[in-house]
Amino acid sequence: MGKEVIICLDIGGTNCRIGLVDRAYEVYAQQILGTAGLAKEDFMSGLLQLIGQYRETYQEDFQIKAVSLGFPSTIDRTRRKLLSTPNIEGMDNIEVADILEERLKLPVYLEKDVNLLLLYDLFSLQLEEDSTVIGIYFGTGIGNSIYMDGRLLYGRNGVAGELGHIPQLHADTVCGCGNKGCIEPIGGGRCLEELCAGKFAGTRIRDIYKRYWDTPELKRQVEAMSIPVATEINILDPDYVILGGGLLQMEGFPLKALEENIYRHARKPYPAENLRFLYSNANQENGIIGAGIYGWKKWREVEKNETSYV
Ligand SMILES: [Zn+2]
Repeated sequence: MGKEVIICLDIGGTNCRIGLVDRAYEVYAQQILGTAGLAKEDFMSGLLQLIGQYRETYQEDFQIKAVSLGFPSTIDRTRRKLLSTPNIEGMDNIEVADILEERLKLPVYLEKDVNLLLLYDLFSLQLEEDSTVIGIYFGTGIGNSIYMDGRLLYGRNGVAGELGHIPQLHADTVCGCGNKGCIEPIGGGRCLEELCAGKFAGTRIRDIYKRYWDTPELKRQVEAMSIPVATEINILDPDYVILGGGLLQMEGFPLKALEENIYRHARKPYPAENLRFLYSNANQENGIIGAGIYGWKKWREVEKNETSYV
């Protein structure tokens, strides 16, 4: 008998990663595929086919116990259904867990991508299980995950932590969500794309901080990044603040200025005087390992109750 593993997927708007994760969170047989290729017919059929074939390839060498998937989506409170997926067509209001379980006859677990990143960060940074931790990940949008008293915060509808959509007074930019005045279009990566297409035309996005950090436009954008972080700090007084995402990885990113802006907007003396910033270790495998951590946590709950699954 081979090792016990969970098939883990990290699904993004551009790429999907699939791999096997064992109980010690080691990854095996990792593959990367283009999301567009999976969606040739419709995404759900492509996904079923991918998992089916992958399972067939590895089921002789491994004991496959479950499937755990991270989606760039809002997910219902029961973690069975995708509510909306802005970057993948046809993945709104889909009962993904039920459909996959029915076809695969394996337990299927769903979670939001940034929640899996935070679970990975908690594990890799070895933070205490009962801490309150917030993760803010700056990419095209602003991803957020809140971990309190040993678990992820979901909220009534399952969509807690939509931090990019904190409203700004008198801002009238229309956000991807349809509302006017959200912080995301001012502080997220979309703003950099616009600058590279306009004011700083001819600049590659990844060079923008290196070349233009000292301009009012970039200073404003970095201050806008600090607003949602300081807001959440002032509400939750977290033990740790984890910052990550592609923007922070860019050459010349003004990390110190971001921290100073967060401090400036945080309530004095506390929580401002006792902030603990940590940085997400950027690695392509993080989403898959996060899916493994989540999947095994759910699997252990099943084991504990000794209920046979199927
Ligand atoms: Zn919005």
